[in-house]
Amino acid sequence: MTQPPTVTFSSSIEPLADAPPARADLNGCPWHDVKSMLRQVGLRPTRQRMALGWILFAKGDRHLTAESLYEEATRAKVPVSLATVYNTLHQFTEVGLLRQVAVDGSKTYFDTNASDHHHFFVENEDALVDIPGAEVVVGKAPTPPEGYEVARIDVVVRLRRKDT
Ligand SMILES: [Zn+2]
Repeated sequence: MTQPPTVTFSSSIEPLADAPPARADLNGCPWHDVKSMLRQVGLRPTRQRMALGWILFAKGDRHLTAESLYEEATRAKVPVSLATVYNTLHQFTEVGLLRQVAVDGSKTYFDTNASDHHHFFVENEDALVDIPGAEVVVGKAPTPPEGYEVARIDVVVRLRRKDT
């Protein structure tokens, strides 16, 4: 008769607090997508990054301000400060997961579609909308100063409602 081998578990098992805030709502489990997405860009999947990433990316392409993401996080009962939301958004932007679209001095949007595209901004409604890819033709990029190259051209076409 042989003794069963003794198995010792290390205590590094992830705490349950890493579970998503509303697992029942998940389809296709984007939680795991967020984790691998963060790992791919070299960001440690901390609980706050995971939670904010999940809120940001589980709903398709959209444009958010730090304040609106903070509101969504609060509604989803994710305990996070506005400062953390700002930091996380900037970290995600630095690694290319988000694109920052500055509309004017006070309004900055974060776009979950990081590919090249342009925007309509509806004044008075603070709405930022994608312009379909084929529709903006930038005739000729300006010649950059010596030692520089054009990294990207962002077009924001500002709209207002017609007087009727
Ligand atoms: Zn966009």
